[in-house]
Amino acid sequence: MGRSSKDKRDIYYRLAKEEGWRARSAFKLLQLDEEYQLFHGVQKAVDLCAAPGSWSQVLSRKLNASDKQTCQVKIVAVDLQAMAPLPGVIQIQGDITKVSSAHEIIRHFEGQPADLVVCDGAPDVTGLHDIDEYIQAQLLLAALNITTHVLKRGGTFVAKIFRGKDVTLLYSQLKIFFREVTCAKPRSSRNSSIEAFVVCQGYHPPEGYTPNMANPLLDHCYDVKFNQLEGPNRVIVPFLACGDLSAYDSDRTYPLKLDADKEYSYVPPTQPPICPPYQEACFLKKNNLLAKERPIYPLGEVPSETQDN
Ligand code: SAM
Repeated sequence: MGRSSKDKRDIYYRLAKEEGWRARSAFKLLQLDEEYQLFHGVQKAVDLCAAPGSWSQVLSRKLNASDKQTCQVKIVAVDLQAMAPLPGVIQIQGDITKVSSAHEIIRHFEGQPADLVVCDGAPDVTGLHDIDEYIQAQLLLAALNITTHVLKRGGTFVAKIFRGKDVTLLYSQLKIFFREVTCAKPRSSRNSSIEAFVVCQGYHPPEGYTPNMANPLLDHCYDVKFNQLEGPNRVIVPFLACGDLSAYDSDRTYPLKLDADKEYSYVPPTQPPICPPYQEACFLKKNNLLAKERPIYPLGEVPSETQDN
């Protein structure tokens, strides 16, 4: 969870720390669930691109709370990065673009399909919108691909998208696989961000479709050329803002003391990063090992080439 000044001001960042979520994005999934009852009757769930794990935390808390009797809940989380352990969550450190990750998920579910697949995957943003949108779309395709291997018929798929100019094409393509596709923007997702989520319900792959890791949305797989659909033939999916007016607005600034009776006290992030790439540099700095060693010369004997100009 970042600690830039923007994050520190953000109400969801502060609430996440107070309520013990590993990242503020937990609220996005919670608000999506409020609107779509995503977790209703779900026992097997997959969290793609899960690190640091706030969506897995939400799944674990919510699914286990609603399935106290049978205790059949199984959650599998996949990410390229290592993640601190979470009770009741099976972790796979792997790439969602690889078929081996799909096989590993299936193995954990003992051959049973999942009821719900969620994906909050994001590549490292470059700041170049076209490239970021393209890479995000590719990650979404990978998520859909793996989903076609593991999701049960009628199951639900939720994934992050960047709402760029080609997003209607993406909706049309997702409609091939799902009965209901909606674009949703939770209140905890900043308005200034082009991020939104597709909520795809009622998984029904096309007749004869066999899951494979090739791009399932390539036009040439089907008779209809979705790229060329125009006007009313292009699918326009409903848009829904999740979280009513009582939910906090992520673009507003709130006072540090929300509750008049309570003193504000700083709560450190729930989960420190695991082996961050700067760990070694921190160690060197702490032990004063970062500075270059410089030879010490007796006064008046500094060689001329080392003298500062
Ligand atoms: N939903 C998470 C949470 O609530 O804590 C946050 C996810 S974070 C925004 C995006 C994650 O996508 C990163 O941890 C990154 O490692 C992961 N990711 C990106 N590409 C991936 C890939 N090809 N396979 C697996 N994970 C990937």
